[in-house]
Amino acid sequence: MLRRVVFFFLALASLAVLIGGQQRSKRTKRSSQTHERRARRKPAKPPVASFVTDSGGRELIVRLLDIGQGDATYIRNGSSRVIIDGGPDTAAFGRYLDSLNLNNTTIDVVILSHQHLDHYSGLRELFKTARHIHVRYFFENKDPAPAVTLGELRDSVLSRMDRDSLIYRDTDDPCSNGRPICTIAMTGGAKFHILAPLPNGDGPNNRSTAVKLIGPDSASFTMWLAGDAEHEEINWFETTGYARNPGMRVNVLKADHHGSCNGVTSRYLALTGPQWVVTSLAARNDYGHMHTQAKEIYRGARVPWYRTDQNGTITIRTPGTVGGGFAITPERAGPDLDGPSDRVSRQPGCATGVR
Ligand SMILES: [Zn+2]
Repeated sequence: MLRRVVFFFLALASLAVLIGGQQRSKRTKRSSQTHERRARRKPAKPPVASFVTDSGGRELIVRLLDIGQGDATYIRNGSSRVIIDGGPDTAAFGRYLDSLNLNNTTIDVVILSHQHLDHYSGLRELFKTARHIHVRYFFENKDPAPAVTLGELRDSVLSRMDRDSLIYRDTDDPCSNGRPICTIAMTGGAKFHILAPLPNGDGPNNRSTAVKLIGPDSASFTMWLAGDAEHEEINWFETTGYARNPGMRVNVLKADHHGSCNGVTSRYLALTGPQWVVTSLAARNDYGHMHTQAKEIYRGARVPWYRTDQNGTITIRTPGTVGGGFAITPERAGPDLDGPSDRVSRQPGCATGVR
């Protein structure tokens, strides 16, 4: 009897092993078929520039990404990573996150300059669960805004804040100490100032926060980025005292508002005194960017420009050593190019009578 029972259990066990094996092989087959289908369905994305050479030492690297009609800037120094704006398109920004090897990393500071879609939309990609990106600080002006997609971004930020994994700061009080200037050090010796925007600026553009970036050797490299600030806020930067503290003279100026004539004045260019202007825009845009008047002002001051629509991603590097200077390198072509949408703007406040 005992022998018969043992035999029965042995038979049962071998059957179970057999069934299990068959199920496993079915699963393996099915999953390999799914993989094949997925591989067939997913054509390779066009490659964007590879950035694998980014080092982690004292070198400061700034990349004005070729993101279309919008702004997206990535800054690296030591182990610190900073992103200012994410451009208009999640897919395009996502491809840069991939090529910059930013998945599974920490972004120390993300700054949204102001509330327009061409600056915030791509930032939503940072919070996609599959990317495993940890954002330590998120800065924006927190003004009420009706856009649903901005609401989505803010929900992501707030939910990370609730889990104590993110600090959410208002650019109107960037250090939460009542002062308009918040200075943040990067681990390779560079630093940057986040500057509170014009308190009651007319429209989102004139609520853009300005950032002054300073290389590890401040004599070698500084840069000024002020989102889409227009004449009203540009003038206020001076009257509120930013020209004295932290000082507005820089080596490189990111053109405000994608090279619009309302994003530059001769006075602004005299105060910032850049050796180079860089600007981010799409070759075909509805706004006539870059405006002829803006280019006239740059030309008049003998400041050359690079533009992402014609030059691709623009990379600025400074080694971080005393007297090391800086190098500005476009992906392609030379300076001072025109684009197919460039035209004279008729908007008030921009010089007329320009060719
Ligand atoms: Zn913009």
